[in-house]
Amino acid sequence: MKVAFACSECFPFVKTGGLGDVCGSLPKYISDLGCDVKVFLPLYGGIQTLKHNLLLNEDLTDIPLMIGDVEYTFNVWEGKLPNSEVKVYFIDCPFYFHRETPYTNDKDEDERFILFQQAVLITIQYLKWSPDIIHCNDWQTGLIPAYIRTTYAWDKIFENTKSIISIHNIGFQGRFSPESLYNANLPIDKFYPFGPFELNNSFCFLKSGIIYADLITTVSPTYAKEIQTEEFGAGLEGVLQLRANDLYGILNGIDLDVWNPLTDHFIKTNYSVEDIENKEDNKKNLINRIEFVYNKDIPVFGIISRLTGQKGFDLLKPILHHILENNDIQLVVLGSGELQYEELFKSAQYSFPEKVFFWSGYNTELSHLITAGADIFLMPSHYEPCGLNQMYSLNYGTVPIVRDTGGLADTVKDYHEHNESGNGFSFKDYLPDALEKTIQRALYIYKDKKIWNEIMIRGMKEDFSWKHSAEKYLDLYKKIIN
Ligand code: ADP
Repeated sequence: MKVAFACSECFPFVKTGGLGDVCGSLPKYISDLGCDVKVFLPLYGGIQTLKHNLLLNEDLTDIPLMIGDVEYTFNVWEGKLPNSEVKVYFIDCPFYFHRETPYTNDKDEDERFILFQQAVLITIQYLKWSPDIIHCNDWQTGLIPAYIRTTYAWDKIFENTKSIISIHNIGFQGRFSPESLYNANLPIDKFYPFGPFELNNSFCFLKSGIIYADLITTVSPTYAKEIQTEEFGAGLEGVLQLRANDLYGILNGIDLDVWNPLTDHFIKTNYSVEDIENKEDNKKNLINRIEFVYNKDIPVFGIISRLTGQKGFDLLKPILHHILENNDIQLVVLGSGELQYEELFKSAQYSFPEKVFFWSGYNTELSHLITAGADIFLMPSHYEPCGLNQMYSLNYGTVPIVRDTGGLADTVKDYHEHNESGNGFSFKDYLPDALEKTIQRALYIYKDKKIWNEIMIRGMKEDFSWKHSAEKYLDLYKKIIN
């Protein structure tokens, strides 16, 4: 089976969040199941071609493409996903992709991904490689299902191609002015209220994907249900309800080549569930690295996150100082984002310099050190399509405290005193008080090393590898092909 995998980020080339992790790992596992997988990605300015051994394909240069009335050209570079034979095709158009960040607020943001998506299809034409499946991810690739049924439908190469769109976060929809449809080279007569491209008088890339794709997936079973409700659907709940029979929730896996305490090359001491006591070395190392005072009895909390409202920091804001004042804990925060949350952690660091360490920015090494070195991982998200950090934490014996939503609900089971079950702590109500009580509950249990150890072990024994999820994707591919 031939699978084209189109995405706007892909680890290790470019990553801003979980989407990058997923697109850097799922294609490898699908390929392991016997599929011929090719990944398509923009060649952003930040991608280092030398470091990743990328090569320009001399046969695929200066390929013309129209955006509205203007002609652009693009080149194609090639590389491979590490530890695999999966080829990655990079769409190279410096005018659109050499910007400071992969995503921008520039007024031509629509054009950047219109170019990318058409370039993916044109590259497939040049390769004379007819995919059985085009697997699209999020709004940046949301027009592809429409393209192969309209603008590119003339080409027999796509005649038997089916499409899937995976929604990694419904909060990002790619909504632009209706005029953008002209730039996109899509049928303008199909833009009308409640039509396939229209959402509240905007041209919505993600809605187009939901309407035109043969199947829709999202990244956890609970989120698949949640996005069909007004509370979580962000305006797309109606369309998703219409397509409820074609909507599947498949939990993301984690890439064990990258996130495995037994082989992680960033951390001080490798460990597994067999020698879980070695985790403590990593706590010591983390605490030394940030120049705090190490004490094995002081619980270390970790946060690694985009600092946005989605991640539940509104809940932490009113209670953080109170918690720090009244508990002997240490908190290590890695993240960047909205000013109000940067200020929250800066002011906590200022008021409690011996308890709070805040690193503003993106840092891969530190993210591994925290995942291995913290005792508790805090992730009280308002909504969470899947969430990877809680799975990494579970795998590393770092006990998560989460809100019971989306993928967090599907992976973290609240500790229960009576039947000794659970791999973490969770709460339902989106209220600061509920979070504070849950933190206090965890701190109380933390004092009982035997119970705490059992919670850690249950987490480490969970199997979040991609294998099962990749098989589920393959089943869906087969289902639509037949
Ligand atoms: P989301 O995709 O919503 O940001 P996920 O939990 O699905 O959340 O994935 C986040 C990914 O990004 C994880 O791999 C996490 O370790 C990483 N990450 C987030 N913020 C940072 C940061 N500041 N530095 C390093 N890695 C980060």
